[in-house]
Amino acid sequence: MAKRDYYEVLGVGRTSTDDDLKKAYRKLAVKFHPDKNPGDKHAEEKFKELSEAYEALSDPQKRAAYDQYGHGAFDPRARARSGGFSSGGGFHDPFEVFREVFGGGGGGGGGSIFDELFGGGRQDPTGPERGADLRYDLEIAFDEAVLGCEKEVSVSKLDGCEKCHGTGAEHGSGTKLCQTCGGRGRVVMSRGIFSIQQTCPRCEGGGRVIEKPCKECKGAGRKERASKIKIKIPPGVDNGIRLRSAGNGEGGVRGGSPGDLHVVLHVKEHEIFEREGDDLHCEVPISFVQAALGAEIEVPTMAGPARIEIPAGTQGGARFRLKAKGVKNVQGHGTGDLIVHATVEVPTHLNAEQKAKLAEFGASCDENVNPVSKSFFARAKNLFR
Ligand SMILES: [Zn+2]
Ligand SMILES: [Zn+2]
Repeated sequence: MAKRDYYEVLGVGRTSTDDDLKKAYRKLAVKFHPDKNPGDKHAEEKFKELSEAYEALSDPQKRAAYDQYGHGAFDPRARARSGGFSSGGGFHDPFEVFREVFGGGGGGGGGSIFDELFGGGRQDPTGPERGADLRYDLEIAFDEAVLGCEKEVSVSKLDGCEKCHGTGAEHGSGTKLCQTCGGRGRVVMSRGIFSIQQTCPRCEGGGRVIEKPCKECKGAGRKERASKIKIKIPPGVDNGIRLRSAGNGEGGVRGGSPGDLHVVLHVKEHEIFEREGDDLHCEVPISFVQAALGAEIEVPTMAGPARIEIPAGTQGGARFRLKAKGVKNVQGHGTGDLIVHATVEVPTHLNAEQKAKLAEFGASCDENVNPVSKSFFARAKNLFR
């Protein structure tokens, strides 16, 4: 494929100035930068093409050669051509060219490239900055979730320095003009023929620095500390519920407000109760005599034991609903129920006398005593006729 004309690539005229070239390159390089177009081969090619065109035209010697010989000026095979410019090799890495133009070459100044690419959005480094929100996973017991409780958690986090009250300066020390940038917040560096502006690495663009940094936090204004935080857990919370403890996240910077602490609850299972929304379920065994004759039995509730009446002839699996003995709704919409599931226990370890009595009882039963069996075997009989 034929190489495109360098002027055409940058969209500038043949008489354009260095400034025009730079402007055109900046605009297009930002548009086609691979960081902004991840996985886009077309953009990557464009980015490389731009870099090469800019590199060639921004160098007066190379530009003169290009104007005279076109792309042949940079072709190593054309080295022998009299008067032709031979660079002795290819072009620089496109990212290197990009860094040169945007001036984020060394260390802390990298922010400016990022701002150019993604349109800023970074916080003003001089203004107050809110602390980060934190997450804490807290395991609580089943009854603590149902009835509510208060917990104290220990969180290790960055908090405002107590010594300097978050200012980062030693007591009695203020701020002074940054010597590196003279208070402008930006410094000009020269790289070859370019002069590049970048954020001042010393004051991070603020223009002022702390006179004497606080010894406790080394000027950061914050320090890692273990804090004990009380968390009030309302009744009715369930697994996965997130509670916000306002202001208990990381401390802010330069007078910024602290973040929040988000407590995510994990509720342990209960030995007896199972939860379904705001209702509780519980299996209660009854003897077959109680089931046959009916009885008043004791059942557990979250608020202590309660008594319920079960009628004569209760079958296994029968359900009894205890109104409002479930979980208080966390939003205040009433209280759930407790549903007791009766299971009928068949006696074991009978002694001789008990066995005799049961046998006697069995012999006295006609089919009307067990109506469920009667109906079942009537149906089964029809099946095999
Ligand atoms: Zn500075
Ligand atoms: Zn401090």
